[in-house]
Amino acid sequence: MPIPTELVGSLPRPMKLQQAYADLDDGKITVEELQALQEEAAKDSIKRLEQTGETYVTDGEQRESSFATYPITTTLAGTGLAPNLAGDGQFFAIFDDGHHRQLPRLTGGPFRYQTFASEFVEKNKRDASKPVKQAVIAPSMLMLLYPLEEEIEGYPREQFLSDLCDEVEKDIRQAFAAGAERVSIDFTEGRLANKNDSRNPWTNKDMLQEFIDLNNRVIDRFSPGERRNIGIHTCPGGDCDSVHSKEVPYEKLLTKMFNINAGYFLIQCASEDDKEKVYKLCGEYRRDDANGVSQKCFMGVIDPLTPEVETPEQVRDDLLKAAEHIGAENLGATDDCGFSPFSRDEKPKHGSPDFARDVAMQKISARLEGARMASEELGI
Ligand SMILES: [Zn+2]
Repeated sequence: MPIPTELVGSLPRPMKLQQAYADLDDGKITVEELQALQEEAAKDSIKRLEQTGETYVTDGEQRESSFATYPITTTLAGTGLAPNLAGDGQFFAIFDDGHHRQLPRLTGGPFRYQTFASEFVEKNKRDASKPVKQAVIAPSMLMLLYPLEEEIEGYPREQFLSDLCDEVEKDIRQAFAAGAERVSIDFTEGRLANKNDSRNPWTNKDMLQEFIDLNNRVIDRFSPGERRNIGIHTCPGGDCDSVHSKEVPYEKLLTKMFNINAGYFLIQCASEDDKEKVYKLCGEYRRDDANGVSQKCFMGVIDPLTPEVETPEQVRDDLLKAAEHIGAENLGATDDCGFSPFSRDEKPKHGSPDFARDVAMQKISARLEGARMASEELGI
């Protein structure tokens, strides 16, 4: 079988869609007017992804406030925020360029999603002629909605975690039921968990093992056959063309991450200084038998944070090197991250999100062609 390929999920939102998110916050347009522009951008994303030949297509998350907050709010500024949440939660991440992203704060129970990703899958199935994938958020990210130190009166942390796991399980099951063939779980907080950033208290609490255990609490509810198509995405962040945890030694995560009983992993790698070290770690720690499923490593061969388009030859060479350490039969190709995980992202290094959308398609085409060339060379 040729080397499989899969994108993480998001694409830059067109500038006029980003403006519409802001206009909704300012009360200048209605939700229906925002939705019309989301539809238009989603359809365009699917059409253009299909033109590249991408195996699985998505709407590029055009209808989502972000990869992490789609279940609980319509916009990043908090328009349409779910009940029991306030806008002033902890920082999720402080990025290298100085900007930060903040999570809402849970104020009481019960915790419930107001939007499930299956809503997007249903719409995408309607518009797509190719198989559809969906990215969902990990419980390990949303556990940060609960205050870090104190207990919410009447809603103990354990009750929250139990409710959260039920909602994430439902999110994944419903996405499959709506027709998604692959569901990948965004786990960008994995590497960040070892950052020890004094400005961001949760990163000082050594939470990686807790994150892994919580994610397994959900993933272990699925059969090996289902888990073959459940992935985990890891990266050092990707927002406004900046990262949040690239300086954290990757081995701290990669030596533990494969303990998550997922069937495949979408692993940032193209932007690493020492890619071969990453291939080695993945080859060493991936498991042939993760409770009945053999883990596949989809290595990042494209950097969505730079406007320079990788060549198919670069992609081919990276994959051939990765195959030496991981084994061609365990290898896939992906991008280092979604191309724009948050709905407001001006893609500064690209100059504009509209241009960045064009660049993303060129990069995806290079990944596909490079994977084809590597497969040919490997005779698979
Ligand atoms: Zn990412």
